[in-house]
Amino acid sequence: MSFSPTDILTSASDSILSVLYPQTCIICGQSVNRRSEGIACDNCWSKATIFSGLETFCLKCGAFLSETEPLIDTYCGRCDGHFYDRARAVGVYRGAMSALILNLKRTPHLPSQVGRWLEIAYLDSFPIFADVIIPVPLSRRRFKERGFNQAAIIGMDLSKRTAIPMDELSLARKIHTPIHRAGMDLKARESSVKNAFEVTRPKLIIGKNILLVDDIFTSGSTASYCAKALKKNGAVSVNVLTLGRAV
Ligand SMILES: [Zn+2]
Ligand SMILES: [Zn+2]
Repeated sequence: MSFSPTDILTSASDSILSVLYPQTCIICGQSVNRRSEGIACDNCWSKATIFSGLETFCLKCGAFLSETEPLIDTYCGRCDGHFYDRARAVGVYRGAMSALILNLKRTPHLPSQVGRWLEIAYLDSFPIFADVIIPVPLSRRRFKERGFNQAAIIGMDLSKRTAIPMDELSLARKIHTPIHRAGMDLKARESSVKNAFEVTRPKLIIGKNILLVDDIFTSGSTASYCAKALKKNGAVSVNVLTLGRAV
């Protein structure tokens, strides 16, 4: 095995940083050896389900249907009315992945290991190359409260890795909706995002293949209504990539 100078520099800076900023795993409390792992240790990340792309997913919404490779095109039957073309995620919203996503709402930083997984998921999942990355927007009120949009942190990381430009301004959330809670049923979720999104700069949307990014895909209604607004304004395709997939 050989190491490039960048590898050596990265691992050197990782160990220097971990001495300067010793960090414990948010889940088990053991120490995190590499800064690239972020909030969880090696062991906890190894227990997370990160998709290899060989599992059986609903071809459209990316619902995780089985761990084995599909023999035929498979659909879940629940996403037929959704407006996006295809949705995929880096992994299952559980364990280290859910801890990371919760942490991302407080700390605007994506660990580089997760950024690499995100890039691989993007390259493996979609039939077409995106012209532009658009993060699912926050309402102005939520943006003020948080100070940043976690979906834009994810989008920015992918933009740097793929050289696809990110557009944070052309899609806006005009209605402030309550934070989705686990107890919120499908109908309540749906109606809270139904008319929430608008395209503010249609000239930048028309004719574009768009990659919508977000932290988590739950029922798919947020992604679907974003895609509806984008397509109404002339987007050719809208694919969706999230870090976590609720199962
Ligand atoms: Zn751990
Ligand atoms: Zn589906």
